[in-house]
Amino acid sequence: MPVNDDKTAMHTLRDISELRHTLREHRLRGQRIALVPTMGNLHAGHLALVARARQSADVVVASLFVNPMQFGPGEDLDAYPRTFEADQTQLTEAGCDILFSPTVSALYPNGLDAQTLVHVPEMGEGLCGGSRPGHFDGVSTVVSMLFNLVQPDVAFFGQKDYQQLAVIRKMVSDLHLPIEIIGVPIVRAEDGLALSSRNGYLSQQERAVAPALYQTLCSLRDALEHGESVEQVLHRGHTALYDAGFTPDYLELRDTMLGPVTPSTRHAVLLAAAHLGPARLIDNLSVQLPAATNASHQR
Ligand code: AMP
Repeated sequence: MPVNDDKTAMHTLRDISELRHTLREHRLRGQRIALVPTMGNLHAGHLALVARARQSADVVVASLFVNPMQFGPGEDLDAYPRTFEADQTQLTEAGCDILFSPTVSALYPNGLDAQTLVHVPEMGEGLCGGSRPGHFDGVSTVVSMLFNLVQPDVAFFGQKDYQQLAVIRKMVSDLHLPIEIIGVPIVRAEDGLALSSRNGYLSQQERAVAPALYQTLCSLRDALEHGESVEQVLHRGHTALYDAGFTPDYLELRDTMLGPVTPSTRHAVLLAAAHLGPARLIDNLSVQLPAATNASHQR
């Protein structure tokens, strides 16, 4: 029986002990708890996670925390859009029960430098982990804190952040955490651009160019599925992204566990990150490789 049936009763909690107290009561009643971690500035992508959580649990907790630990020096921590009241309204309408939005000093009372880290090896290396050193340590540390505070039965993450989802799954498996992790498909704008809080950094002209990232991935996927060589396709993809106005950060084909593609790989994923003006956009697309593909792989 959902707690927030009337969509009016969302509680906003900033305090850790209040959160623990509230959730203890739900747990004692045997209710299933879902967690949706976010950094706020919510859009339809986030709300898809909340909707999935709503379907699968009695109590839906969304967290809103712009986590300083996952931003590198010179990244957009200060500029990151903060729209707390609009987020509260959207979460209430989506049927969220509890919004947990702690302060930085509540989560990191001893400061970032004195914080115990959770480091997930291998999965967090390369791709976004390569261009954003320390990023996934920040993600896995804050997510493990949220898991400890909320103790959810199930947690929802977007497939848009494919490597993040892989890192969280590995962390949960390695640490034997009793939490089911559900990946939710990417929600896109009509023109194909994956929704992201960082899309708001784009000028009107850049926004018109941005769907080229997804379009490029689609055309590369088609070429790969028709058996074209991986090397050739990725080379063409880099050129297409530069020509469209992006500065690619990476464009890679990996197997679905983010390992290298080998001649026997059938299920793969194309992953890209590219700068466009002030924004760094990421996207990915699954690819079904044909049996006879010339998998000259890129790692
Ligand atoms: P963020 O607030 O950007 O940290 O994202 C919070 C969660 O929402 C993460 O699990 C993201 O992967 C997910 N998310 C963000 N954008 C999308 C999208 N367009 N489609 C699906 N999930 C998304």
